[in-house]
Amino acid sequence: MKNLDQIKGQQAVVRHLENALSDGKISQAYLITGEEGMGKKTIARAFAAALLCEDRKQGSYLSCGRCRSCHQIETDNHPDLKVIAHEKPQIISVDEIRSQVVSDVDIRPYQNGRKVYIIPDAQLMNEQAQNALLKTLEEPPDYAVIILLSTNENMMLSTIRSRCIRLPLSPLPEETIKEALRTDYHIPDYRADQIVRFARGNLGKSVEMAQEDDFLNDLHKAGEMMSQVVRRPSYEWSEYIELLTEDKSRYDFYLGLFIDYYRDILLLKAGGDPRRLMFFDEEDTIREEAGGYGFPGLLECEQALFLAQKRLKENVKPELVFFELFQALSDNYER
Ligand SMILES: [Zn+2]
Repeated sequence: MKNLDQIKGQQAVVRHLENALSDGKISQAYLITGEEGMGKKTIARAFAAALLCEDRKQGSYLSCGRCRSCHQIETDNHPDLKVIAHEKPQIISVDEIRSQVVSDVDIRPYQNGRKVYIIPDAQLMNEQAQNALLKTLEEPPDYAVIILLSTNENMMLSTIRSRCIRLPLSPLPEETIKEALRTDYHIPDYRADQIVRFARGNLGKSVEMAQEDDFLNDLHKAGEMMSQVVRRPSYEWSEYIELLTEDKSRYDFYLGLFIDYYRDILLLKAGGDPRRLMFFDEEDTIREEAGGYGFPGLLECEQALFLAQKRLKENVKPELVFFELFQALSDNYER
């Protein structure tokens, strides 16, 4: 388990929590926002651990890591730390909020005078659930601290938001992510350099990319598709189009990779440093493509890629969008 001083980046949020702890001025409701992978849960748990630690020094914001309470948090069975669970993946129901928060909060803490509730994915609470929670947020018992974690602040009722101290997380600088990948996750330098370009400031995502083969597979697949589309006749594109359209949640992801691929072509075309390539394994193919396109053609391709993105957002049939995109990419390729 991490202490607050081990959180990478997010200085504004971490400092706020540290000050609250060392001054003993704890609010009863916090709303931590940021996309998946940015560290909402890690920060909330570090804060909870410090709040519940039985051996925290006066004026300190660090949990001791050794007391009974710290051990219980480490092993996920602290009686005064409640992490709200939900059965359906896409919704937190009013019953779940009632049983796990509203009626639980009146039971006094067992150990150290505080009780902490963490609600992950708080944006999944439907309106009823939020309204039920609101009553507790309006008059919480003084020992209760409620920490809401949300990927989307706008899905929270304004009445909930206004009761919470709001702590928005921000994307991390590339250097911070690289450093964390190297020191905490022992990812070799060259891999950290490659991954950080795709992570867009999200440490959790970077770690996931570094540890799973999936991302590298996807990257490879996207690169292969792009290189084959311009080399094969259009009647052979259907297998790619099928692959692209079988999972709606992945269109944007792939299209994003295609855009990166064409940036790579442009990079080599312009004589840029191949170490900056996102598709690091495909330098030879990309170099060949850079030779097969003229600059005007590449600009056309870029426009076609952005047009495709726009049309997918407008719900144009994806089969059509990808086919027309491939056509534009292929038509501009001179070989
Ligand atoms: Zn402790």
